Amino acid sequence: MKIAKNTVVTVNYKLSDAQDNLIEDGRQPMVYLHGGYENTLPKIEEELDGKEVGYSSIIQIEPEDAFGDYDASLVKVEERNRLPEPLEVGMQFEGMPDGEGGAEEAMIFTVTDIADDKVVLDGNHPLAGMALRFSLNVADVREATDEEIAHGHVHGAHGHHHGDEDDEGEEGDHVAIHPIH
Ligand SMILES: [Zn+2]
Repeated sequence: MKIAKNTVVTVNYKLSDAQDNLIEDGRQPMVYLHGGYENTLPKIEEELDGKEVGYSSIIQIEPEDAFGDYDASLVKVEERNRLPEPLEVGMQFEGMPDGEGGAEEAMIFTVTDIADDKVVLDGNHPLAGMALRFSLNVADVREATDEEIAHGHVHGAHGHHHGDEDDEGEEGDHVAIHPIH
């Protein structure tokens, strides 16, 4: 079966940077709903569209087609007492960008520095500013269920798990912080 809109694609992958330094070994395959649902990078969909099980390739994706350029304005300094303990550099939190109303998508902030009573949170994607090289190998293609198409994501193994997703960001001029797993 060919990869087309509304198929569920299982793809084994390895991710490295443009210098071939391994970023993710992809021990867990990526499973995504194909067809512009933003389950994966558009360049990956473009590469795999029309292909079948067994297809493999290596593609390089520039930052503007991946996770964007590094944006220094996404770095925030927060009071340490607003964050849970224990706190370590590298921990990630889900938060809302401050001061821009509630319609924004939640962002992931990474703790990049801790100093006395302040914490530096970086809202850039850890892969922002990097060219990414994906080695891809298509392992499975199946038709999506009606429910998956309605939801815009894959269910089942490696797919989306429904939990309570209605935790709203707090109002105000701070980053609203929720620990993520
Ligand atoms: Zn769903």
